Amino acid sequence: MKLVRFSEDQTFSRDRTARFGILKNGSVQDIIGTPFSNFRLGDILYSLDQVKLEAPVTPSKVVAVGLNYRDHADELKMSPPEEPLLFLKPSTSVIGPGDSIIYPGSSQRIDYEAELAVAIRDVTKDVEAEEAIEHILGFTCANDVTARDLQKKDGQWTRSKSFDTFSPLGPWIETELEPGNLKIELLLNGEIRQSSNTSKMIFPIESLVSFVSKIMTLLPGDIILTGTPPGVGPMRVGDMVEARIEGIGSLKNDVRYRFGFEDRRE
Ligand code: MG
Repeated sequence: MKLVRFSEDQTFSRDRTARFGILKNGSVQDIIGTPFSNFRLGDILYSLDQVKLEAPVTPSKVVAVGLNYRDHADELKMSPPEEPLLFLKPSTSVIGPGDSIIYPGSSQRIDYEAELAVAIRDVTKDVEAEEAIEHILGFTCANDVTARDLQKKDGQWTRSKSFDTFSPLGPWIETELEPGNLKIELLLNGEIRQSSNTSKMIFPIESLVSFVSKIMTLLPGDIILTGTPPGVGPMRVGDMVEARIEGIGSLKNDVRYRFGFEDRRE
């Protein structure tokens, strides 16, 4: 099943109200209730061009994992970490498919990082890896956008990872998916820049959910970003960036300056 969040208003507005639905045969059907509890199908059917797809969940937090692909560790000539290295991205960094990544005036280099995102189903605390799958709603595509120059300059990652629009998610949550062996790619203006497989993760998804749940309570709709494969690189204003994962779909976002700042840096 493909779970979506959508709004009927296709114009950009942070205030628009979004609802959950299911994507089936190219149409969006609304649901009564939420994906985190019992729900039933509603009566309204929309074609995809009638709606704007939003980020499929509104997480209270986005928990991200640093180095988690063996081939990326090789690329960086780093030995794999003994435990997952975690950082947080704020809820306000989340945008949906088709939304724009805004290039901050304070950075000279922002990078793409294609990642598999795990969406949490229910209140999840202190679970073991064997139980983790019961707490996963499903999977979606993500781009862990990073101001690389600020990450190096600051020595810790909060500023570089937290700008508004730096956590594109979508286009939907795929609920029936075995995540352990999926092709993951990033395309910049249609050219493949990252290409790997989720089988190369150092810490598998179940152990990541368990590890995080023993630190902080995960809430329904929270997101865990599971790390990026090799080939990270910069984006420029005007670029179109696409994170593509086998069995899920494709998340596309463009890069632009903030409205009113097109011709000058802040
Ligand atoms: Mg990352």
